[in-house]
Amino acid sequence: MKEACGVFGVYAPGRAVAQLTFDGIYALQHRGQESAGMAVSDGETITVVKDMGLVTAVFDERTLSSLPGHLAIGHTRYSTHGSSDWAAAQPVYRPVGRSGFALGHNGNLTNTTELAEQAGMLPGMVGTDSDAVAELVAREYPLDSPDPDAVAVDDLRDALRVVLPGVKGAFSFVLLDANHLYGVRDPQGFRPLCLGRLGPVDRPEGWVLASESPALDVIGAAFVRELEPGELVVIDETGVHSEQLYPPEQVEPHLCIFEFVYFARPDSKLYGREVHGTRRRMGELLAEQAPVDADLVMGVPDSGVPAAEGYARQSGIPYGQGLVKNRYIGRTFIDPDQQARMNAVRRKLNPLRDNIAGKRLIVVDDSIVRGTTTQAIVGMLRDSGAAEVHLRISSPPFQWPCFYGIDTPNRDELLAATKSLPEIERFLGVDSLAYITIENLKAAIDTPGAGFCDACLTGRYPVPVPVFINRTSGPEEAPHGAPPVVALQAALPGV
Ligand code: AMP
Repeated sequence: MKEACGVFGVYAPGRAVAQLTFDGIYALQHRGQESAGMAVSDGETITVVKDMGLVTAVFDERTLSSLPGHLAIGHTRYSTHGSSDWAAAQPVYRPVGRSGFALGHNGNLTNTTELAEQAGMLPGMVGTDSDAVAELVAREYPLDSPDPDAVAVDDLRDALRVVLPGVKGAFSFVLLDANHLYGVRDPQGFRPLCLGRLGPVDRPEGWVLASESPALDVIGAAFVRELEPGELVVIDETGVHSEQLYPPEQVEPHLCIFEFVYFARPDSKLYGREVHGTRRRMGELLAEQAPVDADLVMGVPDSGVPAAEGYARQSGIPYGQGLVKNRYIGRTFIDPDQQARMNAVRRKLNPLRDNIAGKRLIVVDDSIVRGTTTQAIVGMLRDSGAAEVHLRISSPPFQWPCFYGIDTPNRDELLAATKSLPEIERFLGVDSLAYITIENLKAAIDTPGAGFCDACLTGRYPVPVPVFINRTSGPEEAPHGAPPVVALQAALPGV
């Protein structure tokens, strides 16, 4: 089970923390629409409310006002493989110690089986990778401490120090116990996590953790910084305490490059860059790299729009809107079958015929995964009388599944893993197709010295992944022409 979620945490005595958490996870809704939840502590009791559905479906005023406390964590969940049920909704809670603790996870672990075995969990007990971690942390929690106050910061911190070094893969965790908020990133920093402050710099009134900075903006918190890969922060009445959990040789920043391409909000700040500007730059470089004569540049809403703006600016070809999006429809990506996905695209996007008819179009989108969306869009544009359709994609060919927290199909469903460029052009029905190069993608993000995970584009997996079991055709070989992938050959237990 993979997850690509949004996490949030707030420590703010005297403030309505449940309301702040609602606003925070609402701003992170794009990171997960399957379930939403929060855990709130009043210092004695931790209350968890979670359910399937959007943030606004799970929480209303009445629920929020019944959740008093001084600290809270929140979560939005986006799972894959259709198994979405209440039991997998987060935060996960464990009733250990005086008041227990709760955990929210963004990422995907690569050694869940091993962790579950260590935790003594029977196969049927392991719901998600987050469950396995919660179980291990719970086991380290001192149940029988003679001192009731001993079940405090140092205990959960100690448990995290013991458990986390054995946890492999991608994780940005937020946790709380009765009186402390915790945030931690894996030593590769695959998934983002940032720190914010409520109140003035000299008199902080509270602290916030969030997957992305817009969740700070909406509650009026100031952006302080991104957490470092491998960093643990503990927040309590004495302020923010930070430590590095890993020795320097194990800390190797690999922020997911797809956060820049598609996943993060355009108004997020990652590696110190506002994402929107990097996407516009991708479009500019794509225009230099793959120019074509045309009448109009259009973006596929919403994620293709900034790169289209950049393409137009660089090429001098006018930018225009070619498709209108029904803004009340969520993502089409995880519908169960091809026909359902096609219908979903039609429901979501409708062409502006007068803008399109007779024109030579440059259509810019952020990525092609299965190709279903693009094929449907190209069909619509042709039906609306487009003279030519030139597709430009602001990410390199997506060829490898993600094991670190982004929902991707099996390899044999990834269009670029199974077809050559001319075959893809024919399949999509375009006059030409070009993808940005990995070098230009990195140049657009422009963070010299910063490390990325680009496994989905290059097959180079920075953390070994379990042997790659393809559900339709069994264990996979690296395809012809793919870079050597030592990680894929690692004989770890299958998932
Ligand atoms: P596809 O039809 O499979 O080629 O879908 C590609 C489209 O889905 C792109 O236009 C992206 O904007 C979007 N997309 C890419 N990755 C994801 C993802 N992990 N979850 C949801 N949507 C995605």
